[in-house]
Amino acid sequence: MDVTPILESLNEAQRQAVTSPAKPLLVIAGAGSGKTRVLTHRAAWLIDVEGVSPQSLLAVTFTNKAAAEMRGRIESLLNLPVNHLWIGTFHGLAHRLLRRHWNEAGLPQNFQIIDSDDQLRLIKRMLKNQELDDSHWVPREIQYFINAQKDEGLRAHHLHDEGDPNRRQFIALYADYQEVCDRGGLVDFAELLLRAHELWRDNPALLEHYQRRFQHLMVDEFQDTNAIQYAWLRLLAGENGIPFVVGDDDQSIYRWRGARVEHIFQFQKDFPSASVVKLEQNYRSTATILNAANAVIKNNGSRMGKNLWTDGADGEPIRVYSAYNERDEADFIIGRLRDWSDQGNVRAESAVLYRSNAQSRVLEECLINAGLPYRVYGGLRFFERQEIKDALAYMRLISNRDDDSAFERIVNRPTRGIGARTVETMRAYSRANSCSMWRAAGAVASDELSGRAATAVTGFLNLIERAARDTSNLDLHEQVDHVIHLSGLVDFFKKEKGERGETRIENLEELVSAAKGFTKDPVEEMSEVDAFLSHAALEAGEGQADAWEDCIQLMTMHSAKGLEFPLVFLSGMEDGLFPHQRSIADPSGLEEERRLCYVGITRAKQTLYITHAEQRRMHGTDSYAQASRFINEIPSELIEEIRPRVQVSRPVQTMTRGRGRTAIRPGAEAGVRLGQRVRHGKFGDGVILNCEGQGAHARVEVNFETAGTKWLVLSYANLDLM
Ligand code: ATP
Ligand code: MG
Repeated sequence: MDVTPILESLNEAQRQAVTSPAKPLLVIAGAGSGKTRVLTHRAAWLIDVEGVSPQSLLAVTFTNKAAAEMRGRIESLLNLPVNHLWIGTFHGLAHRLLRRHWNEAGLPQNFQIIDSDDQLRLIKRMLKNQELDDSHWVPREIQYFINAQKDEGLRAHHLHDEGDPNRRQFIALYADYQEVCDRGGLVDFAELLLRAHELWRDNPALLEHYQRRFQHLMVDEFQDTNAIQYAWLRLLAGENGIPFVVGDDDQSIYRWRGARVEHIFQFQKDFPSASVVKLEQNYRSTATILNAANAVIKNNGSRMGKNLWTDGADGEPIRVYSAYNERDEADFIIGRLRDWSDQGNVRAESAVLYRSNAQSRVLEECLINAGLPYRVYGGLRFFERQEIKDALAYMRLISNRDDDSAFERIVNRPTRGIGARTVETMRAYSRANSCSMWRAAGAVASDELSGRAATAVTGFLNLIERAARDTSNLDLHEQVDHVIHLSGLVDFFKKEKGERGETRIENLEELVSAAKGFTKDPVEEMSEVDAFLSHAALEAGEGQADAWEDCIQLMTMHSAKGLEFPLVFLSGMEDGLFPHQRSIADPSGLEEERRLCYVGITRAKQTLYITHAEQRRMHGTDSYAQASRFINEIPSELIEEIRPRVQVSRPVQTMTRGRGRTAIRPGAEAGVRLGQRVRHGKFGDGVILNCEGQGAHARVEVNFETAGTKWLVLSYANLDLM
């Protein structure tokens, strides 16, 4: 057998890991040193050389994108498709197990996954039901508490209040929350993992079946496994499983979600026969980028310490751009992206990374204006949009009448005369009788409600029953099409004025196309509708540019883990945003942010831009910030600063004072400042965003409050400085 394709592109240490004997192995190495490559080559080696069946391999990684990439890499090494390989995220694999064994897991067959937004709503509703003040019992804190317990593998009955009445209430809320979920067949993200763990723990025969089946357990990004994930792996490995795990302690970025980098040590204790391989050569980035990353991460105290080097070229300096505000920052980024695309590069090889999802909106707007196709991974995704969630809630309720979360969302959407009082009556009934809202609605409509309300509720119940009948024999996309019309959603959004309503209808239509393009993975044992709904909750759409279109990649630094791009922008590098305000005062929080920065920098192969803005409007308020401390941790000789095109304080030569304002005379040298407020005779008041050119050619870009953004030639514009 020719093993050349599997081994030729590996260095000695990598080869050693790939061809190691069948016993536990831990690869611990820095970014870009080929951990993921080793993992994929190991899979190919096992299948091709050791004759291991693809069925007995289980590979786990962190994002769907990374999983898809891993599958692709293995297939191209083996030169054949590996459909039956179990490869996915922890959540995805847990979900697959629960679908197969819903009965043993104590779930209804058509259980639905709720995302964190649904979860939060459910909690808010619960608080309201119990008349608890949500300023004191903060829904997000309760959500965090519940998920954190689940991540540790703890149910409400495992917890003790330790004499603390606050904690007692949290525990009680956790128990109530779980009861509501169980009643409705709802499974949140953390529950997927916990249930899958309990499924095996409580069904030894089933566990044994899987232990026999999956001998080779391969885990990428091992440093970010949380307690329940590790426990799950540990169960599956049993006495004879052969785990092959790769990770980097410097890239542990999910501590806030319960990830424990300590699992690296735990692993060595649990599998004392494990060998440890270290990889030290980085193949991804230029020396400049690597040196910057090393210099930043060096500031963290708690590290295993690694020596990462490259024999590649120094490459370009890291370019740092100080923008005036977030628009200026976006314009700068888009200018570079356009150049990149004009030079014939593949757009998908460029990525704009940011710390928090909210930052993507301005970038998206500017990209749309510039006509550059892009895709947002993670964040406010297609399937999270209001109207899409409305339509999906109809589908969910049709599939499972006990889905309270779906019921509440659409009972009066579009408005059909079912007011808050009526809903409250149903809730009271559902509480008193421990039944779903659907059943409660049926009961109160005939017994408790007055004429008009009763008719409205019965109308809704009939509508759902009718939709279920009408769609039972239709193809998935026809079902979606039917439901968005029958529900009244399309008509409802038609009435919403302007572009917004139109966009919503377009999105609903897009949902029909999404359903059309959806194919159920043959491995998944569930109905097509349920598969589609789970896909919507789990895979999260990623719907901006069409899948086949070459487009710029936008994502948070968290979602960029494991990926690489020739051109990378780290945007919004400001203290308060990154490192995040929350973590600045907390040393271990700051170290986690620094690891995230290390992840960000090491995504870049050739060109890295870092941008920050002096002023940023986010969530409706303006804030002013210093450049991120992480920029200062990069040695200055690796950096080339790109100044704004106009110096902030250039000598003002040709301005005259008058009427309390300064006028810019035609033909004057541009003594204007970015951010300067100005007034124009026709367009009104605005702020200078950009300046270009000299003398008679000097132009400024002004963002007018009412007239929008305009480029004006200074010598003609007759602007008043304010
Ligand atoms: P991260 O920590 O970011 O997940 P990683 O350690 O998983 O990184 P890989 O993504 O596997 O690293 O590899 C980084 C890059 O280096 C990839 O483009 C990969 O193809 C390349 N690479 C890895 N090993 C070699 C090698 N021996 N020869 C040439 N290129 C290599
Ligand atoms: Mg990797």
